[in-house]
Amino acid sequence: MAESTGKQRLTKRYMWLVVTAGAVIFGHACYNLPFQQLDFRFLSLFSLTVAISSGIGIRVPRVNTTITVADSFVFLTLLLYGPEAAIIVAAADGLSSGLRISKRWITVFFNAAATSLAVFITGAIARILFGSPIDFLNQPHSSVLILLCIVALVQYLSHTWLVAICLACKSDRPVWHTWTKHYLWSSLTYFVGAFVAGGIIQLQTTFSFYAVLAPLPIISIIYFTYEKYLEDIRATAAQAERAERERAEAEHARAEAEQLRAEQAELHVEELNRYVEKLERTSRELQESREHFRHAAFHDALTGLPNRTLFTDHLRVALGRARQNDQYLFCVLFLDLDRFKNINDSLGHPCGDELLILVARRLEGCIRQTDMVARFGGDEFAILLDGLQEPSDAIGVANKVLKAISAPFKLHNHEAVTTASIGVALGANNYSEAEDVIRDADTAMYRAKEQGKACYEIFNTAMHTRAVTLLRLESDFRRALENRELCVYYQPIVSIASGELHGFEALVRWRHPERGIILPSDFIPLAEETGLIVPLGLSVLREACNQLRNWQQRSVFNRYLIMSVNLSGKQLMQSDLTEKIEEVLRESQLDPWRLKLEITETVVMENSELAAITLAKLRELGVRLSIDDFGTGYSSLSYLNRFPVDTLKIDRSFVTTLSDAHENLQIVKTIVTLAGNLGMEVIAEGVETEDQLNQLKALKCQYAQGYLFSEPLEVAEAEMFIQRAAQVINANASALMSAEFAM
Ligand code: C2E
Ligand code: MG
Ligand code: MG
Repeated sequence: MAESTGKQRLTKRYMWLVVTAGAVIFGHACYNLPFQQLDFRFLSLFSLTVAISSGIGIRVPRVNTTITVADSFVFLTLLLYGPEAAIIVAAADGLSSGLRISKRWITVFFNAAATSLAVFITGAIARILFGSPIDFLNQPHSSVLILLCIVALVQYLSHTWLVAICLACKSDRPVWHTWTKHYLWSSLTYFVGAFVAGGIIQLQTTFSFYAVLAPLPIISIIYFTYEKYLEDIRATAAQAERAERERAEAEHARAEAEQLRAEQAELHVEELNRYVEKLERTSRELQESREHFRHAAFHDALTGLPNRTLFTDHLRVALGRARQNDQYLFCVLFLDLDRFKNINDSLGHPCGDELLILVARRLEGCIRQTDMVARFGGDEFAILLDGLQEPSDAIGVANKVLKAISAPFKLHNHEAVTTASIGVALGANNYSEAEDVIRDADTAMYRAKEQGKACYEIFNTAMHTRAVTLLRLESDFRRALENRELCVYYQPIVSIASGELHGFEALVRWRHPERGIILPSDFIPLAEETGLIVPLGLSVLREACNQLRNWQQRSVFNRYLIMSVNLSGKQLMQSDLTEKIEEVLRESQLDPWRLKLEITETVVMENSELAAITLAKLRELGVRLSIDDFGTGYSSLSYLNRFPVDTLKIDRSFVTTLSDAHENLQIVKTIVTLAGNLGMEVIAEGVETEDQLNQLKALKCQYAQGYLFSEPLEVAEAEMFIQRAAQVINANASALMSAEFAM
């Protein structure tokens, strides 16, 4: 700010200096003006200069300069009337042109002063060159040109430097730089002005001054035409320049747009790449989770094997092939682990799971790559053998599986042994539905279980018939329960030593309205499977207890009879079993000691943990406990000691073959000895012959039950048996008395 005011001040001072000098020179010129020489020609020159001359100029194209008529007039005046007159004309020209370019009077006066000062210096030089007064016409022709050049050069330098200094002050730039930039090329004006003036003076010596002025209109026409032409050129040039500028601008804009587009494109490409990457990642994740879900939908989570759905799908494909090709054979093996529940209960579920995984791996080892093993749930597995050569190939695989499964399994902290029961359904074009093949393999598997487990059974139509029969039986059985078609038979148990009646075993019978009496073996497994055994067992227990109580009340002899009632595995699992039995005892008012509950050895061993607890509770009730079918299961002697058992019932199979095989005699002998050592009683089941009885007697077996004494009897028959038994007791008693008497 301070800098700019400093510049202004300096410029102003310089201008004032020039104006003052100009004023002095103007005054001096006015004072020394040769008035006597000033004629009409001078006045014409003066007025032309003031009116139009400085306004009319020829702009030289491409050079920043204008050749004004005024310059020529000033030179003309200088050469014709001397420096003082020229100063007056120059001052007038300066004022006139100054007023045209600015409204600030200092600028106007400066313009006039600078022109005047320049003319003053030029005049002084001209006087030296041409003599005073200036004698232009009498100069030798050879030096006129040089002299004119010197005059023009002085005028040029002095005028331009005076103005350039002002401009340099204003712009704060070096004077030389300002001068070269603005005035270097304007020298032309001065030279042309000087030569035109010189030319006119030469011409007027031949023609009069006014004759020289006569062509002025023509010159004016030429001038204005030339001006017009220049204007056109200027317009064209401006147009060209504008076009060039617009083209350059357009080019620039295009380049910028191009760059922007490139940048944006780059940005877009980056963004696109990121997006594509994200899309790819998401699609990968989606693919993974889809595969995960698909795998989960068709596979068993524990073993990783295909599940029932996937197995059935594959089986359908096999069925399709069989339909197209008569020779095509396939096979489904339905496999269920034997006593798996026992492992789960005794070793815990984690061990059970571990076992299932190991079983899965062993099964995979038994099949070809084209076959499939699936887990249906629990301990059920299925194998699809696809494209078999011979039906016997399926049997080969079944045997291989049985062997593989029967080898001991090494679990986390235990070793487990299990077996499998396998149902085999051979398929060709005889099946239309996959589910039917699975159902038949399942049926055959149940048959294998019934056959004693750890074996395979091949499905046949008889099995199917049987399955249908069983189904019908089930609905019949439910109805039978409602209609009280089930009744209890009583089979006597006799003391071997005395032959006296010890008690009865209550055995259920089904009085079928059409089929007559149906034995337990035909419906007990069904009742077990359906759970109907629980209400059935309870009703048998109730009836048997009431019956014994009834008999006891009828005769004093019956007071010491016992009633054996069978208890199924399912019943043993009931948490309210003890309460239910207690209730029955209370209702019947039977002495608990007279009731003996029979549980098969297999049930006790398969549920050893729970059995130990439940049996202890029952023992607390005061009832007696018996292990039924002893010898058929896998009793461990250490286990046997844990159960509060009173009686062992030797299975019929040992008794029947007692006389045939020496081995069985040894078994029975061992059981009797074992029971004796554990403080238990022994009852032999299925005694049919005197021979068997004698052998049992020899082995010191306490009680016997079998057809030799009686088959299971209806109530009335049983009562007759009791009466006969009372006679035996009476006979025994009188025999004893007479013997004593004889002594
Ligand atoms: P169990 O408890 O071992 O009953 C003995 C079975 O042997 C009875 O068959 C009986 O009739 C039969 N038996 C007895 N002596 C002989 C003989 O000298 N020769 C032959 N060949 N058989 C003889 P049953 O009545 O057919 O009962 C079969 C099984 O059904 C019973 O075997 C028992 O396990 C079960 N059972 C019967 N009634 C019931 C019941 O009310 N509840 C439960 N849970 N099971 C029952
Ligand atoms: Mg029994
Ligand atoms: Mg038995």
